[in-house]
Amino acid sequence: MKKLYSFCVLVLINISLNAQVHSHGGANPIEYPDIPGYKTLKADLHIHSVFSDGNVWPTIRVQEALRDGLDAISLTEHLEYQPHKDDIPHPDRNRAYHLAIEEGKAHELLIIPGSEITRSEPVGHSNAVFISDANALLEKEAAANFAAAKKQNAFVFWNHPAWYAQNPKGNPILSDFQKERIKRGELHGIEVINSVDYAQESLALALEQNLTIMGTSDIHGLITWDYTEKGRHRPVTLVFARDKSVESLREALFAGRTVAAYNSLLIGKSEFLDPLIKASIRIEKAAYIPKTQVLQIDLKNISSCNLLFENQMPWSFYSSSPIFEIPAGGTYTLKVKTLEIKEQIGLRLKALKAFSAPGQQAVIEWEVEVE
Ligand SMILES: [Zn+2]
Ligand SMILES: [Zn+2]
Repeated sequence: MKKLYSFCVLVLINISLNAQVHSHGGANPIEYPDIPGYKTLKADLHIHSVFSDGNVWPTIRVQEALRDGLDAISLTEHLEYQPHKDDIPHPDRNRAYHLAIEEGKAHELLIIPGSEITRSEPVGHSNAVFISDANALLEKEAAANFAAAKKQNAFVFWNHPAWYAQNPKGNPILSDFQKERIKRGELHGIEVINSVDYAQESLALALEQNLTIMGTSDIHGLITWDYTEKGRHRPVTLVFARDKSVESLREALFAGRTVAAYNSLLIGKSEFLDPLIKASIRIEKAAYIPKTQVLQIDLKNISSCNLLFENQMPWSFYSSSPIFEIPAGGTYTLKVKTLEIKEQIGLRLKALKAFSAPGQQAVIEWEVEVE
């Protein structure tokens, strides 16, 4: 009996241990809806571990991504900057990727091989992702780094182009080096959001040079300490892919189908930004308050972005200012004074922190059927 009891306890312990092993979801995962025709993949393609200047082992990066509900990550260790090399000799520059792949194999997280090409300005830093061998990217000349990345069919994006350590005015400077890389098809994207910084000048460059818009954490410490504990999510690139696969992610990045997202900020081309915001707000109920011409609309924000809106309709609101926020995951009841009873209205709002170009915010219209 005693034996059976301990056996049962052991089984129970085992079940609960297994449950822990297979459920890495955190309390507050990042969520964004799909848009018509595409699946929305949440990607953070700029991450460091101890294999360059980060402070954690690669396995922690995988676990953090699973807690955040991400679809894809890339460990982009600096090729040239190796401050832990005395403690962690690093003869194979694919090592962080292999450790991450091993950690993530039981999960659906896409782990993309990558490296950060690291130079002082005017070359700056760039990530090459979807590479086949990081060792083969080690070159003396920066131009040779980029040529080697192209040989591996890598998607390459310019990191923190506005970083004040390299550009003291805090604005990106498109150098002849980058112009040449773009001309040669060796540079395809640009970070407009890097860690907690957004540069609208980088967005202007993205649009002018037709570079894919990226948002990344560039995390070196812990996601929890830098973001979660402060009540925010890490920045991500939302990638609109045909399905959740490495090849679809890559195709979508080369095609420029992205929105960079960070807390209350969304940055992307209108053709992707507008449907994303439209899908993020669900109209739960629309009915007139009895014996009035005041239309009550219950709106639910199903995204992880705190959406700040401004009224763009000819009618005013009964109980809120023309500017109001619907927090991530929250609901908001809007009372619209339509002056007469309508069977349907176009709910037209400007998303004040959603930019398709510097100074250009998204204006979205939802068709609301009144009950
Ligand atoms: Zn960097
Ligand atoms: Zn970095």
